[in-house]
Amino acid sequence: MENSKLIVILGAAESGVGAAILAKEKGFDVFVSDNGNIKEQYKSMLMENGIVFEEGHHTEEKILQASEVIKSPGIRSDAPLIVTLMNRGIPVISDLEFAARYTNAKLICITGSNGKTTTTLLTYHILKQAGLNVGLAGNVGKSFALQVAHNNYDYYVLEISNFQLDHMYDFKADIAILLNITPDHLDRYEYKFQNYINSKFRILQNMESDDTFIYCSDDQVLIDEIGKRSISADTWAFTVTDDDSKQAFLKDDTIYVNLRDKDSFSFSVGEMQLQGKHNYGNSMAAMLAAKAINIKNENIRESLKSFENVEHRLEKVPFQVNGVEFINDSKATNVNSVWYALDSMKSKNVIWIAGGTDKGNDYSELYELAVQKVKALVCLGVDNEKLKKSFGDKIKTIVETRSMKDAVETSYKLASPGDVVLLSPACASFDLFKSYVDRGKQFKEEVRNL
Ligand code: ADP
Repeated sequence: MENSKLIVILGAAESGVGAAILAKEKGFDVFVSDNGNIKEQYKSMLMENGIVFEEGHHTEEKILQASEVIKSPGIRSDAPLIVTLMNRGIPVISDLEFAARYTNAKLICITGSNGKTTTTLLTYHILKQAGLNVGLAGNVGKSFALQVAHNNYDYYVLEISNFQLDHMYDFKADIAILLNITPDHLDRYEYKFQNYINSKFRILQNMESDDTFIYCSDDQVLIDEIGKRSISADTWAFTVTDDDSKQAFLKDDTIYVNLRDKDSFSFSVGEMQLQGKHNYGNSMAAMLAAKAINIKNENIRESLKSFENVEHRLEKVPFQVNGVEFINDSKATNVNSVWYALDSMKSKNVIWIAGGTDKGNDYSELYELAVQKVKALVCLGVDNEKLKKSFGDKIKTIVETRSMKDAVETSYKLASPGDVVLLSPACASFDLFKSYVDRGKQFKEEVRNL
């Protein structure tokens, strides 16, 4: 197929390169531009597919000739180049918007401020174990576009971020899960929470009455926003309370799924590897999605039993040092995920390692738990002033550190047998680490070195 339209792709990592290959396969002229360095593996993929690219800069003159631009979610929507493109009326879309045009697969789409990766991987695990022909994509796994180009899946489970949703227009989810909305990334939404809420609710756009929308009814932000909108999709709620009017609820440590026209079933949370209230909610969301595509109860049950927790999310370091337990929750990059981490701590003597790049955090939500459970706060960031100021009159011992080695050694010194050292930073990692993965790995390494 020949297509004289030029598709420009901005950002040449997993999602961008996948989109470039799909666009090329569909017969478009394709140009990839990255103003940083492109990794060798992606350069080879581009060259193998005969795709023209540039790195280290953006040639605006060429980019402005595009009929459509696919933007990596990492590039801010208010970057000057993006603003120029939009002002000229050149559509700027996400890789997911582009790839969805070329598949008829059923799309199960998961978004929220926290729990996306866990819920996406669990949902994928359930579908795969049930024998369905399913792909995993979005922010996890391989590029959605590349899979659309090379595979022929019947289902995709997609983890979708607000940055992708901001550039999605005609995309339609068959099943959408909205886990929660708490303030995050406000630096990219003019510090207006409502802008961020609107972005997350784009997951609902274009959904129709035979689609299913699954949400957490414990989240007041979701309830208020749903109240303002008219939603066409069949709407199912889950709750970690015992409210049996919801499609999934928790009572006496048992999850109940209760759908009028489908068989209901129950599952004791003791049988799951995933623990913590937030994970019971995530599991209910995945169970409801599985029911929406008629997966058998037995398959769901087996998958919940066999699914293991994901690295860097409340991950227990598998050994203790002189009776001190260590937990790696490096992926907790906002206040709400730390709330769940502290809430799930059984010990009242937590040495809490926190800090990094602040994204506009309001720590007041954590005050009560900090008073109840935190024995010492070990700040780990370049600038720790906000943490010190917020918790100065709530936590007796506050120490500053600037390396993981120092943070782990200091925490260990402050801990007594039976105490827990919890890395749950509430902040992004980029001031001292390459990523949250790097931060979590260094934590585990330094615990091993004690
Ligand atoms: P995301 O992909 O949305 O960042 P993850 O599954 O990677 O979500 O989890 C990120 C952090 O949030 C971890 O610290 C995890 O323990 C915590 N978390 C997971 N699910 C939830 C939830 N439903 N509500 C609040 N925090 C959660």
